[in-house]
Amino acid sequence: MRAVLVGPPGAGKGTQAQILASELSIPKVSTGDIFRANVSGGTELGKQAKAYMDRGDLVPDEVTNAMVRDRLAQEDAQGGFLLDGFPRNVAQAETLNKILGDLDERLDAVLELRVDEEEVVKRLSGRRSCRNCGHVQHVDFDPPATAGVCDACGGELFQREDDKEETIRHRLEVYREQTAPLVQFYENEGILLTIEAVGSVADVTARAKAALGNRS
Ligand SMILES: [Zn+2]
Repeated sequence: MRAVLVGPPGAGKGTQAQILASELSIPKVSTGDIFRANVSGGTELGKQAKAYMDRGDLVPDEVTNAMVRDRLAQEDAQGGFLLDGFPRNVAQAETLNKILGDLDERLDAVLELRVDEEEVVKRLSGRRSCRNCGHVQHVDFDPPATAGVCDACGGELFQREDDKEETIRHRLEVYREQTAPLVQFYENEGILLTIEAVGSVADVTARAKAALGNRS
C-alpha cells in the first residue's frame, strides 16, 4: 500500500498516520518528523524550515522535495509507505508522481480527513506545552492541576507559536487555498478517499481502514 494522508492542522492526521502505518506494516513518512530532525540538528535546511513554520507558513517545495525523495528511496519504503504532510499542493503532487515513476511505483490511495474549522481552532488554541519536558496539555480537555504548571514535571506551560489562534487561522487558510486543488487533483486521478475525522481516535481509524481496505 502506497498512500498519502491529507487533512487540515488539528485533524489528528499525525496520530492516524502512526496507527495506520503500524497496522498496515508500512513506514510512516512524515515531513514533520524530517523537519523536526533538521531543526533540532540545526542544519541549514532546518533553519530555513523553522522560520517558515514559526510564521505558520509552509516550507518551500525545493527544500521539502529533496528530503522526501531521499526518504522514499530508502530500503524500508520499497514495500509501501504512508505519507503524512506531503504533498501539500499540486506542484508537490506532480513531483511525487515523478519521484515514484523513477522508482517504478505509483500511489494506491489518498485518504482525506475532513473536519470543521472552528473545531480545529478550539482544539489547537487550547494546547499548552511544557518548556521543560515537552508534555502537552489542554486548557479545556486536559487542564493542569495548577494553572500554567506541567502535571508531568512541574515545568512552565506555554503556548507554542504554532498553537496561537492567529497562526492556526492563517494555517487553515493556507491549507484551504493549497489543498483544495490537491484534493481535486487526486479525485481526477481516481484515488481519493474522504472520511469524516470526528469522534474518537478509534472511530476515525476504523473509518480509515474501511476506506483503504476497499482500495487494496
Ligand atoms: Zn513538563
